[in-house]
Amino acid sequence: MYKNNFICLFVSFFLFESHFLLETFLKMEKYVISNKKKIVLVTGGSGLVGFAIQQICKIYNDCAFVFMKSEDCDLTNYEQTILYFEHLKPDYVIHLAANVGGLFKNMKYKVDMFEKNIMMNMNVLKASHTVGVKKLVGCLSTCIFPDKTTYPIDETMLHNGEPHFSNDAYAYAKRMLDVQCKAYREQYGDDFICVIPTNIYGENDNYNLENAHVIPALIHKCFLAKKEGKEFVVAGSGKPLRQFIYSRDLAKLICIILFYYDSPDTIILSVDEDAEISIGDVAKMIAEKFEYSHMLKYDSSKPDGQFKKTACNKKLKDFIAEEKISFDFTSMDEGLHDSIQWFLDNYDNCRK
Ligand code: NAP
Ligand code: GDP
Repeated sequence: MYKNNFICLFVSFFLFESHFLLETFLKMEKYVISNKKKIVLVTGGSGLVGFAIQQICKIYNDCAFVFMKSEDCDLTNYEQTILYFEHLKPDYVIHLAANVGGLFKNMKYKVDMFEKNIMMNMNVLKASHTVGVKKLVGCLSTCIFPDKTTYPIDETMLHNGEPHFSNDAYAYAKRMLDVQCKAYREQYGDDFICVIPTNIYGENDNYNLENAHVIPALIHKCFLAKKEGKEFVVAGSGKPLRQFIYSRDLAKLICIILFYYDSPDTIILSVDEDAEISIGDVAKMIAEKFEYSHMLKYDSSKPDGQFKKTACNKKLKDFIAEEKISFDFTSMDEGLHDSIQWFLDNYDNCRK
């Protein structure tokens, strides 16, 4: 009797496990990659930045880029993560996957912003170390810098004080990625580094009205306001200042960092300080592009978040100059134009 039960249990366990293994293997079978090519795994490959890397990665023709989404592998689960990494054996990892959102998501879902990001980072770095990844680039954010600080903020100031209370859970989880990369480097010699992008916008963003970052949220809100003949309402006073980087510029910079940046030091990937712009001016640019400026209103009962996070891109500019790399930032006028056009063209199927 006990023996039969045990056999049943063993068979069902085996069937469940082999089903999972088979499914994973089938999903990975599409990556039949010439063994001459280096494999670059992009976690978060279906997101805003992952999509931008898909657009620009073809120039690296000695590499095969693999774009992972959560359906392929749940990175909060270590068994799935290590299985995926062991099958793929990536040479390089661009680790973008994260639980991401704007001010309102950061305020509302602090446990998720903390736990999911900590778990994903723990699993991705551990799996990368285990399979011998040659270089990993992890992604932080300028919104994790200290709240009370001097300006401009540079890379050395990341851990010098508490983050703004509105996004402290996300910020501390992300700061730990920096600590973890340095720990792997010091204890094992792993070439794991972090980049710090500023606020990002572009095609294939998340346009959710409540949870998105400001630019995609305002594009969606302005579109709906115009469609319904209602006011275009911008949350807060419109006075806070932000630096915005176009996703395709960031994608180029991340690949440049992966392939050409030999330093172990964390590096800010941002537009210039004088490109900082108020939320009100961004809202006006979006409203103008929709020809709906006359209906723009502010809802000052909503929070402003951190007033500014002005970041210094000197380290990036010095590195680009030293390496004689030709790189120019896209103007916000052009970046916003293309992002809005993409949103209109993909309205039915985009994340919203
Ligand atoms: P995004 O568009 O929200 O995409 C997030 C990605 O993470 C998606 O590909 C998603 O896969 C994946 N993901 C989420 N949970 C996962 C899980 N449990 N397992 C596997 N994959 C999972 O993010 P993004 O805006 O491109 O951000 C990329 C990186 O830049 C992040 O590390 C973020 O912290 C950082 N960053 C973003 C901004 C910004 O303004 N957006 C600013 C500074 C820094 P699915 O599509 O399958 O869910
Ligand atoms: P942050 O840059 O990390 O603070 O995140 P966001 O991209 O969410 O930008 C937040 C700033 O934009 C705050 O000053 C908000 O008050 C302002 N804002 C105005 N309207 C919106 C909106 O619809 N969504 C978001 N997320 N922020 C908005």
